[in-house]
Amino acid sequence: MTGTTASVTQQDQDIPETVVRLRAVFDSGITRPAAWRRRQLHALRRLLKDHTPTIEEALYDDLRKGRTESHLTEIGGVLAEIEHALRHLDRWMRPRRVAVPLNIKPATARVHPEPLGVCLIVAPWNYPLTLTLNPLVGVLAAGNAAVVKPSELAPATSALLADLLPRYLEAVAVVEGAVEETTLLLAQRFDHIFYTGNGTVGRIVAAAAAKNLTPVTLELGGKSPVFIDETADMAVTARRLAWGKFTNAGQTCVAPDYVLVTRAARDPLLAALPGVVQQMFGHDPRTSSDYGRIVNDRHFRRLTGLMAEGDLLTGGAHDAGERYIAPTVLTDVPPGAPVMAEEIFGPILPVLTVRDVHEAVDFVNARDKPLSLYAFTRDKTAWRTLLEKTSSGGLVRNAPMIHLGVPNLPFGGVGESGTGAYHGKTSFDTFSHHKPVLSKPTWPDTLRLVYAPHTSRSFAL
Ligand code: NAD
Repeated sequence: MTGTTASVTQQDQDIPETVVRLRAVFDSGITRPAAWRRRQLHALRRLLKDHTPTIEEALYDDLRKGRTESHLTEIGGVLAEIEHALRHLDRWMRPRRVAVPLNIKPATARVHPEPLGVCLIVAPWNYPLTLTLNPLVGVLAAGNAAVVKPSELAPATSALLADLLPRYLEAVAVVEGAVEETTLLLAQRFDHIFYTGNGTVGRIVAAAAAKNLTPVTLELGGKSPVFIDETADMAVTARRLAWGKFTNAGQTCVAPDYVLVTRAARDPLLAALPGVVQQMFGHDPRTSSDYGRIVNDRHFRRLTGLMAEGDLLTGGAHDAGERYIAPTVLTDVPPGAPVMAEEIFGPILPVLTVRDVHEAVDFVNARDKPLSLYAFTRDKTAWRTLLEKTSSGGLVRNAPMIHLGVPNLPFGGVGESGTGAYHGKTSFDTFSHHKPVLSKPTWPDTLRLVYAPHTSRSFAL
């Protein structure tokens, strides 16, 4: 514990009081210097290192995540984000000088990043560590205080974060709970609200934020399509597709949701998929330590209901007792099937056939803008067509999900898949106000040309 008199402990369940106390911490000015920000980032890194086994246990309890997967997709990702912030913080914080037009000269103009104040992070359950702590890295790097609200659907991770974060960090409080607690939190005035989850709650968050004119980042979801044509390397495509879809049992916001495969590529793709699933998770994925479970009974029932239409290529087995659903591929799925009507968010992969990239573009554009769009193709024209004729949070060629691992790429959605972005410098920018600062000498008084009475020598600014 770093410990200051102003620090907030995990016992703070009195929500308005918690926010008031954090505001006092922020207003005291301690969070502004680079040294404080660095100390917090080092402390967060220490927390992850000191408690790795406990964190792995919590992730296993919540989602049956294996140790390696926990490291690859949760702990490792946050550590990388911390390292990146520590490496670049000085440069990010440096005021940026900008040119001044002739009619304002002499003057100097700079953009000064300054912290916003007290931020709220509301996190989901599917990557309960990463999606809580990655935005927190940006909050701290930018010199803010924060209230963190982990998801009640990942209770072990939520409890662990509530225990650990206030012991390591000086200006962070954790509020555990569900709708009631989040509603009360949203009634407070924050300086930024960062929400990750579904669009229905995203609208509730945006409406609550509007009451206080609080800026929001909404990291939402939706159906992320995959286009595959006959120029793709089918063995690699099948492997990467299966990895992206079945990691965390498909409960990933950027998981491939459905496949649009050209007629010529359909049979080679379908021939390759069952084999790669078996290579990854064995004959019986239920016994694989690398295969997760569905988060709760409601999602389990929803997902098994989505398997009704389409032909089963592989998978289909499920067990309500342990909320297991085998990696499942459905072919010849009608576009109007229930599985195509909502974000799947589970280990079911519908494959639909299209004539060519143009039909795929029309299909994508007839629906909400996706969080991610993936293309497996060596055809430069098809790739350009997707790049220029579709809109999505991100576009990635020949691999799903890996754009999240590039801190220099902003991560976020567009339209129904979200608003705003984060990761790396974009996180720092999201949680900073970029204050324009201008300083003009009083001599010579060049502004006399704008004062009344106006003459033929007057000019506009
Ligand atoms: P969830 O149920 O855990 O909800 C997210 C948060 O909202 C939780 O903290 C929860 O307590 C709170 N919440 C729920 N109902 C509320 C209400 N009525 N009022 C106020 N707060 C409320 O998670 P979820 O929404 O099921 O998460 C899955 C969705 O999130 C998917 O759509 C997925 O694509 C999306 N997602 C997006 C990203 C991204 O980075 N863009 C990442 C992960 C998940």
